[in-house]
Amino acid sequence: MASRSNEPPAAPEPLAAPVVDSHCHLDMCAADGAPTVDEALAAAAAVGVPKVIQVGCDVQGSRWAAKVAAEHDDIWAAVALHPNEAPKIHEAGGLTLLEAAWREISELAELPQVRAIGETGMDFFRTELPGRAIQEESFRFHIGLAKRLGKTLVVHDRDSHDDVLRILDDEGHPETVVLHCFSGDADFARAASERGWYCSFSGVLTFKNADDLRAAAAIVPAERLLVETDAPFLTPAPHRGKANAPYLIPLTVRQLAEVRGIEERELCNLLFANTEHAFGPL
Ligand SMILES: [Zn+2]
Ligand SMILES: [Zn+2]
Repeated sequence: MASRSNEPPAAPEPLAAPVVDSHCHLDMCAADGAPTVDEALAAAAAVGVPKVIQVGCDVQGSRWAAKVAAEHDDIWAAVALHPNEAPKIHEAGGLTLLEAAWREISELAELPQVRAIGETGMDFFRTELPGRAIQEESFRFHIGLAKRLGKTLVVHDRDSHDDVLRILDDEGHPETVVLHCFSGDADFARAASERGWYCSFSGVLTFKNADDLRAAAAIVPAERLLVETDAPFLTPAPHRGKANAPYLIPLTVRQLAEVRGIEERELCNLLFANTEHAFGPL
């Protein structure tokens, strides 16, 4: 049973070979008594996670991601306005404020430790009309930025698969696209794979009711698979209800190995190589 006590979950058995956490939010993990960045990295390294990608969701978070990535060899940064953030900025200060935020993201995006533009995309779960028009504007801005800088695009997609496809097809997608926390079924995985996009699987893969997601994970081409925690969210089973952290990624990797019917070591080596292609060189 999931426990709600503050006791962090025990560390899983270390992985057979190193894997990168391709998407986390260490800044949001930093609550009272939570591990510091150094502690989080040490706990991750101890189970075979030598590197994490720290993802910014607003201007402040993106600045922080770029800063910690500059200070730590084992962190890379991604910068963007989250699809639920852009409509809020617009509501607070109109297009002027939104454009100022985009300008700042553009500047951060040029830094060498910033390996990706994200997370951007669409979220129909948390954003209602008319905010979705602003969300789309902001998604289109980030797609253009990734293409201009030749950087990877990290896409957030919640209940918006068709629109994500429509907008990326319409703009023309950047060379490297990662669908983070992939949440579609096998058909959507096929549509993404046809376009050459990476599908990144989170702890949701371990949830009891995630059969459609496991079916999707089974058919993604091996060279397009990634894993992530999205920490502090989406804690894998059997620790649902507790805060997630990069050191829990082995639980997701092992579930993926089972779904794919391959050895853990083979999968780890594959995931490591894929992360290097998507965000590298390491
Ligand atoms: Zn997301
Ligand atoms: Zn995220």
